[in-house]
Amino acid sequence: MKLAILGGAGRMGQMLLGCAQELGLEVVATTERPDSPFIGQAAGNGLSYQADWPEAADTVIDFTFHTCVTANLENAVRCRQAYVLGTTGLTEAERAAVDAAAQKIPLCFAPNFSLGVNLLLELVRRAASVLDESYDAEIVEMHHRHKKDAPSGTALGLAQALAEGRGVSLEDVACYGRHGIVGERPTGEIGIHALRGGSVVGDHTVLFAADEERVEITHKASSRAAFAKGALKAAQWLQGRAPGRYDMRNVLGFEA
Ligand code: NAD
Repeated sequence: MKLAILGGAGRMGQMLLGCAQELGLEVVATTERPDSPFIGQAAGNGLSYQADWPEAADTVIDFTFHTCVTANLENAVRCRQAYVLGTTGLTEAERAAVDAAAQKIPLCFAPNFSLGVNLLLELVRRAASVLDESYDAEIVEMHHRHKKDAPSGTALGLAQALAEGRGVSLEDVACYGRHGIVGERPTGEIGIHALRGGSVVGDHTVLFAADEERVEITHKASSRAAFAKGALKAAQWLQGRAPGRYDMRNVLGFEA
C-alpha cells in the first residue's frame, strides 16, 4: 500500500502521519491547501507538504475540509485510488459526489473511525429497537473549541442509528437544540445537542429517559489516535476491494 495523507499539517493529519510511521506503513506523500504556509516544508518521514495531487499513491486518506472533498474525489477517480474519507460537515451536493465516486473506486466513509464509537453505534441501534418511544431519546456531544461543524458527524451518525433502530425517518423526528417557548417534548422526538469548549477530543452520550428509569450510553475519546488507527485499518481493508461505498461496519465485520 502506498498511502497519501491529505491535510497532513492538520490535527488529524499529524496523528495519521505519526500512527502510520508507528505501524510501519508506507506514506509516499502528504498534501496541504495551496495557500498553506506549510507547502514545501518538511513533514517528517522524508516527505514535504505538497499542494499537487499525490498521483504516486494508491490510497488516500482525507481528513481536510468539506469544501475541497469534491475536487479530491475527482482526482482519486482519475488516478484510480482507494479513498478513506473522514472529513465531516459535507453538504448534500458533496455527499452526492461521494456516492458518485464510490461507483468508480473503493471508498470507506465514516464520521468516526474509532472502534469504540462504531461499537456504540451498534449498541444504540439495538437499544433503540428495544426501548420504544416511551423512552425519550437525546444525544449530547462535546468537542474542542476549534471544531467547525455542528452537530458532529458522529452525533448525526448516532441519530441515524437511533432512527433506524426505531424504524423511523430521522428528518421527521430530529430536533437540533432547543431555545425559547418550544412547548412540550413531542413523543418520538430525537434531540441532538452540541457543546463546544477547551480541548475535548470528542464525547458522545445517548440517553433514553422514561418516567421510571434512564439509560445512558457514553463514549469519550481521549486521543485522536483512536480515529487515526481506525482510518489506517480501513485503508488496509480497502486494498483489492471492488468499487463501492463501505463503512466501518464492513471493516470491523459487524455486518456478518
Ligand atoms: P484541521 O483544521 O486541524 O485540519 C485540516 C487540514 O486540512 C488543515 O491543515 C488544512 O489546511 C488542510 N486542508 C484544507 N483544505 C485542503 C486541501 N484542499 N488540500 C489539502 N489540505 C487541505 O481539522 P481536523 O481537526 O484535523 O479535522 C479535519 C476533518 O476531519 C474535520 O472535518 C473533522 O470533523 C474530521 N474528523 C473526523 C474524524 C473521523 O473519525 N471521521 C475524527 C476527527 C476529525
